[in-house]
Amino acid sequence: MMEEQDFESLSLSQPLQLSQSSFIELWDSVVTPSISTIPTVTGAETWGTNGNMEALLMNDQVLAERFDENLFELPLEVPSRDGVTPPAPTVPVTSDYPGEYGFQLRFQKSGTAKSVTSTFSEQLNKLYCQLAKTSPVEVLVSKELPADAVIRATAVYKKTEHVAEVVRRCPHHQNEDAAEHRSHLIRVEGSQRAQYFEDPHTKRQSVTVPYEPPQLGSEMTTVLLSFMCNSSCMGGMNRRPILTILTLETPDGLVLGRRCFEVRVCACPGRDRKTEEANTDKLLNGTKQIKKRKSAPTPDTTSAKKAKSASSAEEEDKEVFILHVHGRENYDMLKKINDGLKLLNKESKNKTKVSVKQEIALPSTGKKLLQRGERSDSD
Ligand SMILES: [Zn+2]
Repeated sequence: MMEEQDFESLSLSQPLQLSQSSFIELWDSVVTPSISTIPTVTGAETWGTNGNMEALLMNDQVLAERFDENLFELPLEVPSRDGVTPPAPTVPVTSDYPGEYGFQLRFQKSGTAKSVTSTFSEQLNKLYCQLAKTSPVEVLVSKELPADAVIRATAVYKKTEHVAEVVRRCPHHQNEDAAEHRSHLIRVEGSQRAQYFEDPHTKRQSVTVPYEPPQLGSEMTTVLLSFMCNSSCMGGMNRRPILTILTLETPDGLVLGRRCFEVRVCACPGRDRKTEEANTDKLLNGTKQIKKRKSAPTPDTTSAKKAKSASSAEEEDKEVFILHVHGRENYDMLKKINDGLKLLNKESKNKTKVSVKQEIALPSTGKKLLQRGERSDSD
């Protein structure tokens, strides 16, 4: 519980820090709150000597008085909705894992016509779909699965600074929906056997559907997903990109395979896919030049050469590496890290040399970097 709270309080401060401070300040902010929130020894003593909890547990009378006999009847009334949820990790894993059953996904080739309601970009590994419209996802396995295997769909925010927050529908769309699972972003359509879960610890929501072996003459099974909010929904996703994780699981929640793809829910899936694919192409073609320019040595290195201890590290710094990055967000993230590292290098050089001139020059450089970062975020 403690860890989860730390993570959440961190995530609240991070977006601000990313846009307004240097990498060093960000680094400091990451370290400081976790230390301050570590439970103190006095806190532990209070719990032990106070002993309320222990007394409560030991006292049969109290137990008997507080025991609600109707408690046992509740699960029986809604057996299909409140199945036993497997323990979920605080931050879901988003790496692909075909596993021993060769779990794979395939999407129909819907193209980028204006009228298309759901289309998948192989290039960006990204599904574009309209609100509440059905997206068929084809599930393939290489051999027969254990009996009663299920497919689980979970949504998670893509960016590190949002990943601690649970993906839910926005209040507006929740309120106008009477369904029991109205807060769930992802729905499985066309199956009465879909079950909606909310992990009691992480509060993350997911939906499962039993895996059905392919019908005669077919090699795959189709799962129908729909997304019940736009990516832009205020108070919901709020323009934050999400990933959908599909896991193949045993009835006990043991993961047999995992596949992950990005999802954008929008009014014009065809148009947006076309635009984003074109932007990525442009970016890939331009990456070489941008990276070269960015990595060019800064003018103040002549004086730094005199510092003996730093000279070998500096030569390494001057070596230019070119990185081809898929996706604008990945590029923006790596660029931020690169900018941060450059700042960090500069700062450490300044500290060893005690050069007043350079310390004054630093903030303006920091500001410049920050403005660039902000612009790319709002894209
Ligand atoms: Zn919404």
